[in-house]
Amino acid sequence: MNYYLLADWPLEYRDDPQSRFVNERKHANIQKDGTFSVVPRMWGGITTPDELRAIADAADKYDVPTVKVTGGQRIDLLGVKGEDLPAIWSDLNQAGLVSGHAYSKGLRTVKTCVGTDHCRFGTQDSTGLGIKLEKHLWGSWTPHKLKLAVSGCPRNCAEATCKDIGVVCVDSGYEIHVGGAAGMEIKGTEVLCKVASEDEAIEVISAMTQIYRENAKYLDRIYKWLAKVGLDWVKEQIVDDLENRKALAKRFAVSQSVYRKDPWAEHAQNRNTRAQYAPLANLTLEAAE
Ligand code: SF4
Repeated sequence: MNYYLLADWPLEYRDDPQSRFVNERKHANIQKDGTFSVVPRMWGGITTPDELRAIADAADKYDVPTVKVTGGQRIDLLGVKGEDLPAIWSDLNQAGLVSGHAYSKGLRTVKTCVGTDHCRFGTQDSTGLGIKLEKHLWGSWTPHKLKLAVSGCPRNCAEATCKDIGVVCVDSGYEIHVGGAAGMEIKGTEVLCKVASEDEAIEVISAMTQIYRENAKYLDRIYKWLAKVGLDWVKEQIVDDLENRKALAKRFAVSQSVYRKDPWAEHAQNRNTRAQYAPLANLTLEAAE
């Protein structure tokens, strides 16, 4: 219920954190030993020496036992103690890093290849489009996690054709793919449409995200929802009907005006929410006394 109310009334309804599973309440993935993982966002898979230094400093300061590169082109700090979460987030925030929402039903990553910046085969600026898409789409809740990728040519090094939404750049523009899966099930994407400009690609993908948000059952990935409604219905709504596409993109923007904010910053700065990460008591020590 919390998801549907958020999706339909972003301005009127307020999130109920108590209705959420532990990862979304804590803004971190709980691990088998009770510690958490911390994954900062790396827009389009791009980082800088300063960001890497901040991540390394945080790993040293909070005794992070494992630092791992993820499949989504970012860095996972594994084994962080629950009580350290607000402080490590605050340190990472100071370096300009925000939550990667690696725990949420919302935008996870936009994987990219190097495209025309570096690759001899690149047809478009796939990295730049990936960064724009990630900055445009992060924040709002979706029925399930949402993974994107942008490949700079049909060689498809970013594996865009197994993502929820993928873009394959070609000489004449951008092929927009939807409904891939590469987890419990394996499924190649289907082509939604082809557009000529980055702006059109961003508008179509915003509309696609919003129509999924408004219509899918909670916990259905895009490929599962498409199997129910059919790709042709979605094409009618957002490829053939330009007015409807724009209206959907506009409703997505309204939702983003509320939800595109960093939960790490909110929780690290707020004394009330910060308190929920402090341990209640160390019962092992108390039992020994
Ligand atoms: S997908 Fe194409 S443009 Fe991108 S890195 Fe691979 S070969 Fe280069």
